[in-house]
Amino acid sequence: MIQLRAKRILRSLLLGLVCFLLISSAVKSQDKPVLTVAVEPVFPPFEFKASNGDFQGFDVDLIRAVGEAGGFGVKFQSIPFDGIIPALQAGTADAAVAAMTITEARSQAVAFSRPYFKAGLAIAVRDGTTGVTKLDDLKGKAIAVQIGTTGAKAASAVPGAKVRTFDAAVLALQELKNGNVDAVVNDSPVTLYAIKTGNLQGIKIVGQLLTEEFYGIPLPLNSPNLQRVNGGLTTILQNGTYAQIYQKWFNAQPPQLPESAFGTAQTAQKTPIGSLSVILNALPTLLKGALITLQLAAVSVFFGLIGGSLIGIARLSALAPVRWAARAYIDFFRGTPLLVQILMIYFGFPALLQSAGLNFTFNQFAAAIVALSCNSAAYIAEIVRGGIQSIEVGQSEAAQSLGLDSVQALRHVVLPQAFRRMLPPLGNTFITLLKDTSLVTIIGYAELLREGQLIIAENYRPFELYAVVALVYLALTLLSSQGFSYLERAMNPVNRSSSRTQKRSLQSESPRAER
Ligand code: GLN
Repeated sequence: MIQLRAKRILRSLLLGLVCFLLISSAVKSQDKPVLTVAVEPVFPPFEFKASNGDFQGFDVDLIRAVGEAGGFGVKFQSIPFDGIIPALQAGTADAAVAAMTITEARSQAVAFSRPYFKAGLAIAVRDGTTGVTKLDDLKGKAIAVQIGTTGAKAASAVPGAKVRTFDAAVLALQELKNGNVDAVVNDSPVTLYAIKTGNLQGIKIVGQLLTEEFYGIPLPLNSPNLQRVNGGLTTILQNGTYAQIYQKWFNAQPPQLPESAFGTAQTAQKTPIGSLSVILNALPTLLKGALITLQLAAVSVFFGLIGGSLIGIARLSALAPVRWAARAYIDFFRGTPLLVQILMIYFGFPALLQSAGLNFTFNQFAAAIVALSCNSAAYIAEIVRGGIQSIEVGQSEAAQSLGLDSVQALRHVVLPQAFRRMLPPLGNTFITLLKDTSLVTIIGYAELLREGQLIIAENYRPFELYAVVALVYLALTLLSSQGFSYLERAMNPVNRSSSRTQKRSLQSESPRAER
């Protein structure tokens, strides 16, 4: 009897559990899918960060509204503009809002939603500039652009123009403001917004819009979410939400938008190029970049060695203020990121000097060398100090008792021995420096990594290109470490004399062995 009741209770408990699971899974299946949306938050007024760290802008409001109407949630992920298409291809993001112009080339790599914004490129120059109204007027001039954008493409088509690419449009505009370039080619609403908000003074837009472009929301090719996004967009375009968002950010009525950026004609699918041809095509440019990387590292280590030796010796000075100054230098350059130092030297200093009324501009190569040399000097100084201190005091005492003064003792006795001990850590520093040269991409200097990024911005083949770039760096570092090992061997008198004695003893031993 009791057994029967227990069985019944157990059965109803099981039944309850099954019902609960069924209901909860039904509720879950009604849950909206959440799309990871890539965003480049340095392109106001389309996408940027509020002071509390939240994403904001026209695109941000738009995709939230599209999600609401299309039945999906949105989770933002911050990605630089030239990384957005690779991220979509790799599937790390489901969609992106990045004021991205729908172009034929991009349509081969990603699927675009229907157009959601009408924009165009504009030329910006400094206030006093005259005689520039169209692209042709920029022949032979220096133009700053954002990497991988339609502005970069337009600028590179100008004959003889020196195009400098930056990771963000704001950096390109800063470059113009600092007087390092003659013009910036960028999306007109973004340049206008920067001027209007007062964030960018002394800059004006000249001439007519150069292009008519339509922004679209890119998704991976064959994405199942394309329909949801297009459905949501159509709804908000029709129900007035789009106009409200447009009014909020541009204080105007939105223009009419077409249903497709290329009219009704479908873009022809091109057959993708094989990996080997992608690599072979890119190799000459990458090797040129590798030469520049080597040049940067060699020149910087040369100045770094001079500066570092002086600072290292200053660290051992008998005068306390000299020691403190050397210590402060080392602490600063070792304790702050090299990337920040590069930005400070290239963008910060000229801006500071100009605000003080001095007309100062920095050449990219010079700025890169100054930053890399100053940074490596700090590390080399510590190597030099350690090397000198590792030589027993007895050595310089003996040298001085032989009649050498302290400078002569340092030069002829201590330094030659210390230098041998410094070689392995110096080799390490050189290899680190060689890799760190890649950080100067931030100021748009076209070394190895930048050349790779520029090719990716054209062909959207990040895997092959980054793999080759990595291999070229590896080849450079392996070669350098071989070079340093050779130097170590060549400079080691113990090795040299022991190999000589070995030879001598072999010569004298062999006849004895025969005897
Ligand atoms: N609309 C431009 C392009 O698609 C620039 C976009 C951007 O920098 N976020 O190339």
